[in-house]
Amino acid sequence: MDKSTNNNSRQGGCCCGLIRYQVSGEPVIVAHCHCQDCQRLSGCGHSTGAMFKIADVEIFGKPGEYILEANNGNRVTKGFCRNCGSPIFGRNSGSEEHLTLSLGTFDDSSQFDPQVVIFSRNKQHWDLINENLPRFDTQPDWKPDNNS
Ligand SMILES: [Zn+2]
Ligand SMILES: [Zn+2]
Repeated sequence: MDKSTNNNSRQGGCCCGLIRYQVSGEPVIVAHCHCQDCQRLSGCGHSTGAMFKIADVEIFGKPGEYILEANNGNRVTKGFCRNCGSPIFGRNSGSEEHLTLSLGTFDDSSQFDPQVVIFSRNKQHWDLINENLPRFDTQPDWKPDNNS
């Protein structure tokens, strides 16, 4: 494989191909989220997403956007393909400089390793949780900007 070490850009997209994206740089964090919104939006027990700096992400196509209010009052914008319904990204008003891409939409998601589990209190008994990861009942008070 010809894999240049300098070219760390990754691509992904929706199921039907109308939405594509490209991202450079490394994720700020990769997390499993078991919250109820993620259960409904994914149709599964949890979602898994990689958070990047929004400046590192380029989206091609016109995703639909759905806005919901999180428990803490933040506005969460979910981006999805209007044609095939794939969940592509999430943005949170509490962290405007970041965008979280659904891990399963990457062309190759095998190189990511989830680091935390959040909203574990909402986990359903039929869903699996990675017991080796740090786990938070809800969303930790953690700011990707100021990791000192
Ligand atoms: Zn699509
Ligand atoms: Zn969630």
